[in-house]
Amino acid sequence: MGDRLAWFEDGSRRPATKNLVKGDRVYGERLVYLDGEEYRLWNPYRSKLSAALLKGLKQMPIREGTKVLYLGASTGTTVSHVSDLVGDEGIVFAVEVSPRVMREFIERVAKKRGNVVPILEDARKPLEYPSVFTKVDVVYCDVAQADQTEIAIENSKVYLRRHGYLMLIVKARSIDVTKKPSFIFEREVEKLKRSGFEIIQIVSLEPYDKDHALILARRQ
Ligand code: SAM
Repeated sequence: MGDRLAWFEDGSRRPATKNLVKGDRVYGERLVYLDGEEYRLWNPYRSKLSAALLKGLKQMPIREGTKVLYLGASTGTTVSHVSDLVGDEGIVFAVEVSPRVMREFIERVAKKRGNVVPILEDARKPLEYPSVFTKVDVVYCDVAQADQTEIAIENSKVYLRRHGYLMLIVKARSIDVTKKPSFIFEREVEKLKRSGFEIIQIVSLEPYDKDHALILARRQ
């Protein structure tokens, strides 16, 4: 399996993903060419997964052929890069609760990418997804809700294969504005451990995203 993630250097070093839809830009990102192949520069101020890579994420479980359940698709900035990474052999089930946002997501991303399955549902009700027909290798959760860790755990119970990975974006301020972010990150980590996850890494997303962290965990 090839690697669809590259690092582009032009003074600074930035991640880029091999474009699945040649010539297409999703959010005004720059197209660059490496070894004759087209890549999209991945902006860390627009996508927390790019920020995590730049902040030293040690393992990247999303690669060619990976099946991903993505919670909180929004208008698809990060989903589009995940779709690039998994390529034609992989699949991204993308859940979004807002019909208005979902319409934009379909126009900008899902319509053009055969490996993206849009799901207009509430991530709190994983049993109601109509079209997730397989277990997945990775659950990615970025719903920015106070119960985001519980949402990630419930979805993982239903869809994540054994030894699969959870990538959880924790926005401390969505959970409790009165507590220090480091306290909240630790508390969410404990919830994951109690639910049978091994914690691989906690990556602070500063300075790209204030008070955010990505927790990479693995299901036992
Ligand atoms: N992951 C996106 C990206 O990087 O491009 C940004 C996601 S944004 C922080 C959070 C999204 O989660 C919003 O679009 C919101 O509508 C969606 N959301 C919030 N609660 C949800 C729920 N219960 N089920 C599904 N989506 C939800």
